[in-house]
Amino acid sequence: MHLFNNVSAGDKAIIEKHLDKVPVPVGALARELGLEVKLILLPPDISGEIRPSPTAPAGFRINVNRHEKKERQRFTIAHEIGHYLLHRSLIGDGVSDNVLYRSTLSNQQEVEANKVAAALLMPRPTVEALLNTHGGLRSKEVSDLIAEQLEVSSPAMRIRLGLQ
Ligand SMILES: [Zn+2]
Repeated sequence: MHLFNNVSAGDKAIIEKHLDKVPVPVGALARELGLEVKLILLPPDISGEIRPSPTAPAGFRINVNRHEKKERQRFTIAHEIGHYLLHRSLIGDGVSDNVLYRSTLSNQQEVEANKVAAALLMPRPTVEALLNTHGGLRSKEVSDLIAEQLEVSSPAMRIRLGLQ
């Protein structure tokens, strides 16, 4: 995928190893990439952040708002992984994402991080395979079932399937 063109072969191999699991173990994936992941108390308008960490093998820590729902936390982790993979040179002292996944980075960079998050949490081959187990129908009902299996939000899966 062109989104991952600039990702190192080592990081790509780690990502690919996790992508065929249902749901994709996004916390384990982050840790294998060398990132620390912590659920912490963050302001209610902040979903997550990525900042430098001297103790993380890759040099960065992802903080996730512990008051948000699990599906939301999983998306946030995947989104911050996106910033790490694509924008790590721009993270500086840290990047905080609000509940709309906006930050001090550009809209373009936020769109890229959301695309990475969708690709990590809802890999196309897995989504197609799950669709087939439900008769191949791209309905909202089937979309919701697959969202549950992949532990993503219903709106995220509907967007992935082009249903809205
Ligand atoms: Zn972001």
